[in-house]
Amino acid sequence: MAGVRNLIFVLGDQLTPGLSSLAAGDPTRDVVLMAELHNEATSVRHHKKKLVFIFSAMRHFAGELRAGGWTVDYAPLGSADGRAGFTDRLAQAISEYRPARVVVTEASEWRVSQEIARWGARFSIPVDVLPDCRFLCSIDTFRAWAGGRKQLRMEYFYREMRRRTGLLMDGDQPVGGKWNFDSENRKAAGTDLFMPRPEAFAPDAITREVIDLVKARFGNHFGDPAPFRFAVTRVDAQAAFTAFIDRALPRFGDYQDAMLVGEPFLYHAVISQYLNCGLLDAMSVCRGAEAAYRAGKAPLNAVEGFIRQIIGWREYVRGIYWLKMPGYERSNFFGHTRPLPDFYWTGETDMACVKAVVRQTREEAYAHHIQRLMVTGNFAMLAGIDPFALHEWYLSVYADAF
Ligand SMILES: Cc1cc2nc3c(=O)[nH]c(=O)nc-3n(C[C@H](O)[C@H](O)[C@H](O)COP(=O)(O)OP(=O)(O)OC[C@H]3O[C@@H](n4cnc5c(N)ncnc54)[C@H](O)[C@@H]3O)c2cc1C
Repeated sequence: MAGVRNLIFVLGDQLTPGLSSLAAGDPTRDVVLMAELHNEATSVRHHKKKLVFIFSAMRHFAGELRAGGWTVDYAPLGSADGRAGFTDRLAQAISEYRPARVVVTEASEWRVSQEIARWGARFSIPVDVLPDCRFLCSIDTFRAWAGGRKQLRMEYFYREMRRRTGLLMDGDQPVGGKWNFDSENRKAAGTDLFMPRPEAFAPDAITREVIDLVKARFGNHFGDPAPFRFAVTRVDAQAAFTAFIDRALPRFGDYQDAMLVGEPFLYHAVISQYLNCGLLDAMSVCRGAEAAYRAGKAPLNAVEGFIRQIIGWREYVRGIYWLKMPGYERSNFFGHTRPLPDFYWTGETDMACVKAVVRQTREEAYAHHIQRLMVTGNFAMLAGIDPFALHEWYLSVYADAF
């Protein structure tokens, strides 16, 4: 196939039809390149369920693109191409298609962004790296906000994001007269409460094939690939979100900071893996939550709390990452050097809360925020664990970790 105009490289967490690289393309003349890469699956030893989720969602997205008229060159993990890295895969595709240029949306990870930055010098055609418009605050806008401030307070960033997006605003004032209802997010949960479960989806033939592949290829990675319940398509991810709005959002606010034995999910949305790989859109889910409030279906402390996590914390953490990398990953304020204890993998410890979180993490590739922050995060800090080792643990064990 000669005379291809653009080769569009879509990465595994870019599964969004409106992605900037695709929006700049033309299905009749461009080729989309996707690849399940061994190097990426093992950059840290990612949880088996996370690998199944990403590879299956990628395969379904390739199908969605083909149905929309795109030509997709997809290298599955089992193929010879699956052994290469991004650059080798691209080199091979450039020699095959001889495109006029390469187009890619910026990567979400520093390591990958550095690899992409070298493509311009390596290949003799232009490489366009486009901004990731799925985030509501661009990397440059965050840098401008942070510039010259003594303290980077999330609360001030969040207020600006509320004004900019218009979410939960009455004119230029916050709905309810307060920006933040965090003090109303701290009730203790009791077993008498009705606990909704996140919507579960039976694996289809594509997912079952990927489960077998991951078991065979990454058997020594942490975690159980089955039972597999995540959505792997946009439609199912949307169904999971709608179920959250109907069943859990009304109590999300009250019990946001709670933990309860035997309850892995409480009233959390369990959507971060969908947001982070592009099956759900940040602004749409915030609008969905706001609509539930305006329709009287969920209280303000729940809806404000939910929206704050997404346009506040999620955007803020991403902004800080790009502001402070590459040094950030190795920063170590307390100079802690202890290795990560084995029980972060085995769950074999007498500390009941740590044991519960590790076992749940192994089964679900999910823990809610308070478990991550107050149990595994807090313990590691108190025990003087090397933060880089802990960072690698978080990056490998959670389905949403990119
Ligand atoms: C040590 C540590 C590591 C974490 N690693 C990740 C990660 O790799 N990827 C990731 O997406 N989140 C991470 N989080 C944030 C948060 O724990 C998860 O987003 C959340 O648990 C996902 O579950 P949920 O979808 O049920 O969230 P909910 O509680 O229902 O919140 C809704 C959404 O808000 C966002 N969100 C919630 N809390 C935070 C937060 N503190 N920071 C940023 N966004 C938030 C997520 O997109 C989430 O889906 C981490 C938190 C801690 C303390």
